[in-house]
Amino acid sequence: MKVEKLIRPWINSLQAYSSARDEFVGEAGGMVFLDANENPFETGVNRYPDPRQRSLKSLLAKNKGVPEDQLILGNGSDEILDLLFRIFCEPGQDNVLLLPPTYGMYKVLADINRVDYQEVALNKKFQIDVEGILGAISDRTKMVFVCSPNNPTGNLIRPELIEALLTGLNTVVVVDEAYIDFAAAPSWSNRLKEFPNLVVIQTLSKAYGLAGIRLGMAMAHPLVIEAMNRIKPPYNVNQLTQQRAIARLESGLGTEVEQILEERAYLADQLNEFPFVEEVFPSEANFILIRVDDGPGRYREILDKGIVLRDRSKQLGCENTLRITVGTAAENKLLLNVLKQLQ
Ligand code: PMP
Repeated sequence: MKVEKLIRPWINSLQAYSSARDEFVGEAGGMVFLDANENPFETGVNRYPDPRQRSLKSLLAKNKGVPEDQLILGNGSDEILDLLFRIFCEPGQDNVLLLPPTYGMYKVLADINRVDYQEVALNKKFQIDVEGILGAISDRTKMVFVCSPNNPTGNLIRPELIEALLTGLNTVVVVDEAYIDFAAAPSWSNRLKEFPNLVVIQTLSKAYGLAGIRLGMAMAHPLVIEAMNRIKPPYNVNQLTQQRAIARLESGLGTEVEQILEERAYLADQLNEFPFVEEVFPSEANFILIRVDDGPGRYREILDKGIVLRDRSKQLGCENTLRITVGTAAENKLLLNVLKQLQ
């Protein structure tokens, strides 16, 4: 399939904003820059950041094993998801497919961009319903959002089901891997060569511990990345973010992910012991979904004791569920102590 045919013709006709310094950032030695109306006095951040994030991108491309022209960085993966809506979906005409229960921003972004969405629910095991999806697709469907590991359920979507979508659909398949670093599965970014319609989303907000700096990314076919680059704000990844991300990539993750995985196993085990916990869903992410006797009620009781969980009870297929982020060992013990106090 030719994924470029799915890009809005309007977007392909646009020129990206360019600054006089596109070519010089990072190679500033000896030059005098009077082109960008900056304040000349040194503050450490008085200059605009590199709009192409060259140093960070080259590190990340190596780290992820993808060519640089198949990688775009954004102000969190939420910005990246928004760019996808804007390159593929004609407002008021095109639509996307959502597979609830799943990450809430897909719907919010569809609404903001005036793009219709259809929903095909996950089945009881929280796997995707390929037949249902094939039946719901129309010739105006541009994207299907698959979140794996899925938020809020925590499970991976089976690879053969994702493959069936990639080969069976003439749409883009967005695989959101925000939580992939906690999962016992390879990234779909290894398969970009096989599937021109595959877009993989990742973030430094979770395993890398950098939610506060806002750095997300897409890995995709070069023509998809080129279209996103045409419309992204020129300085969408600020200088401090670029510096912090580089430092983190160079220093490595240490044992944090392993610690979170150990705590996840411990927490899941312990949660199974409470009489009001009806089900602890297996997790490949850094959170655990549990089904309780009364989701909203338990949420408030736990909140009253100073612990904030996420009540997911209103989501389709998630009645009476709470989503618990795996915290530090001390935080998890505190949670378990609070749960012991409940009737
Ligand atoms: N995708 C999923 C599945 C998420 O759960 C989140 C954050 N909750 C995001 C994307 C957005 O992450 P960020 O914007 O911090 O990169």
